[in-house]
Amino acid sequence: MASVLEGLDPEQTAAVLAPRGPVCVLAGAGTGKTRTITHRIAHLVGNGHVASSQVLAVTFTSRAAGEMRSRLRALGVGDATGGAVQARTFHAAALRQLQYFWPRVVGDVPWQLLDRKFAVVGRAANQTGVSTSTESIRDLASEIEWAKASLIVPENYAEQASRLHRDTPVAPEQVAAVYSAYEQIKAGEAALDFDDLLLHTAAALEESSAAAEEFRDRYRCFIVDEYQDVTPLQQRLLDAWLGGRDDLTVVGDANQTIYSFTGASPRFLLDFSRRYPDAALVRLERDYRSTPQVVELANQVIGAAKGRIAGTRLKLIGQRPPGPAPTFAEFDDEPAEAAAAAAQIRKLIDDGVSAAEIAVLYRINAQSEAYEQALSEAGIPYQVRGGEGFFQRPEIRQAIVALRQTAERDDLPDGADRGDQLVTLVRAALAPVGLTATEPQGAQARERWSTLNSLVQLTEDLLIDEPELSLAGLLAELRRRADSRHPPVVEGVTLASLHAAKGLEWDAVFLVGLTEGTLPISHALGSGGGPDDEAAIEEERRLLYVGVTRARVHLALSWARARNAGGRKTRRRSRFMHGLVPEDSPASKIAAPKRERRRPRCRVCGKPLLGTLPMKLGRCEACPSDMDEALFERLRGWRVEKARALEVPAYIVFTDATLTAIAERRPEDAKALTTIPGIGAAKLERFGADVLALVRGEDVTVEVDPA
Ligand code: ATP
Ligand code: MG
Repeated sequence: MASVLEGLDPEQTAAVLAPRGPVCVLAGAGTGKTRTITHRIAHLVGNGHVASSQVLAVTFTSRAAGEMRSRLRALGVGDATGGAVQARTFHAAALRQLQYFWPRVVGDVPWQLLDRKFAVVGRAANQTGVSTSTESIRDLASEIEWAKASLIVPENYAEQASRLHRDTPVAPEQVAAVYSAYEQIKAGEAALDFDDLLLHTAAALEESSAAAEEFRDRYRCFIVDEYQDVTPLQQRLLDAWLGGRDDLTVVGDANQTIYSFTGASPRFLLDFSRRYPDAALVRLERDYRSTPQVVELANQVIGAAKGRIAGTRLKLIGQRPPGPAPTFAEFDDEPAEAAAAAAQIRKLIDDGVSAAEIAVLYRINAQSEAYEQALSEAGIPYQVRGGEGFFQRPEIRQAIVALRQTAERDDLPDGADRGDQLVTLVRAALAPVGLTATEPQGAQARERWSTLNSLVQLTEDLLIDEPELSLAGLLAELRRRADSRHPPVVEGVTLASLHAAKGLEWDAVFLVGLTEGTLPISHALGSGGGPDDEAAIEEERRLLYVGVTRARVHLALSWARARNAGGRKTRRRSRFMHGLVPEDSPASKIAAPKRERRRPRCRVCGKPLLGTLPMKLGRCEACPSDMDEALFERLRGWRVEKARALEVPAYIVFTDATLTAIAERRPEDAKALTTIPGIGAAKLERFGADVLALVRGEDVTVEVDPA
């Protein structure tokens, strides 16, 4: 008992000790909400108020559910013996329950989880004569998800979408038609999507008294973390679970509502005590996560918020010892901003901060490229969370295929304005992949569009260093960048969007790209000179609040006036910076560390390398090679066997240039191996052990790879 209450303040303790029944913890970031509910569960179970197998704790992401499970395990109520407390996402809980109840409620009718959703949405669009592209299919799918999460059926969609001013990818009537066809196709194939899992589970409990009785006998105590993010559909499932009972603990922070676009609404949190007038209501104000300096900034950010949600905020009171003041910095351009962040991160690591305790947070995933590159150049390991690295993203893979096809047909003639021509060529090649002239409608299409735009901007950036760049040269450079990225590591710096950072914390946080149009994002700014969408702007402000409150000690905020190195300074810092940047020391312009010229040099003669082969070899073709000929032959022999086993052409395993580079450099470990262009994470994993063994002079037998 003592251990469960240890390290809790009086308000947290009150929430933990509240008798079974409705409990609502309404509190700001870092005040220990997640900690409080895990301790409450441990208290209820540990003192015999409820059996561990009767508790169901839910949250919204599998990462958060995993975090909750490990905290419960640490408190001794998460192990498998005697029935562990279940901590799951809504979806995972519903999937399990539906698998159990389906045969009883529906009978001997098989069903399957829909695994190719976009294809089905595409078919539905075809059937209804709605013309589509890859992006609009994604946006149609998101819109259908929003409707289902909001409990809006196809028949009511058009009316509701208009009423709520939805930003729809096609006319609302057309979305409704596609939505309806999508539901019919699924029904015909006995397939369920993720939202159906929730709908059907709720329906099973609502309609079958036998199922409801069995379920309610089994689960008696419910806990929801991040309750401000609940959707009407999830709330309906929660109500079905409860079946009129009130043993429910919810915790949340309305000022961290950042998922409205998916249908989430803080109204269930804010109305909780109206719905359960007897609820124990606890407010927490002490912030245990961050230094008073960070807390003060957080209070300022959210203090400027407007509207009903803002009315519920509490002023946070920092509990930690003081730390450094948050820094604000303006840069001429984004590469300089990224390079400075990398340099500061290097310094933090040298000062003893673990890389895993550092995060770079941005508004949209398309911003990751500059930071992946800057960290790679600085030799700092990182992982991109909640999304793939830039070069792994489907639109970038497709873009590179499109560029390659263009390069096969034509490259640029020599002469003036090569740079402009290259950019035009790249834009034309990327148009079919989704790079429209103006920003498209729909969140998914916009995200894709932004990522493709980053590729164009990267091209423009490369042209500054090398005005003569050709399309083939650009492709070689993209390949080199993709290959030079470090393989993702668990212990590296986290790169993540603000949305993916919710609930998490790091010692040091870099909030980057804080410009108008990025945070707040352009589509929150209203179009055609009309008024900004206030609700959308407020959600953007909450995103900044979420970002600021992730930092324990070090917090750096920055923005850049231009996208490209040396580009025109057309960007303005975010409106949210107003009043935050200390007056006496206006955003310090930190001089960006001098960037190394990107073009690699020959390691024999030192001249810049031009062309793919010299870049792979790391030397000019004509410069003397110190290649280990015997090793090269053994590598080639191995490659033949490997390619045969994998049923692929030999160059897919490694090109001659890569083999040559290995035979010249004779890498001794995985790290040295990845510095060889052509060997990225995937190749390292598949072939690294073999190659290193060959370098050591060992024999390697190639087995047929089942993959
Ligand atoms: P968020 O709103 O970001 O989800 P939260 O309210 O869930 O935040 P927690 O993650 O539970 O906050 O706690 C924030 C940090 O403060 C954690 O590192 C936690 O261990 C610590 N903490 C919470 N309560 C206390 C306490 N009473 N004493 C010391 N540390 C605490
Ligand atoms: Mg939390």
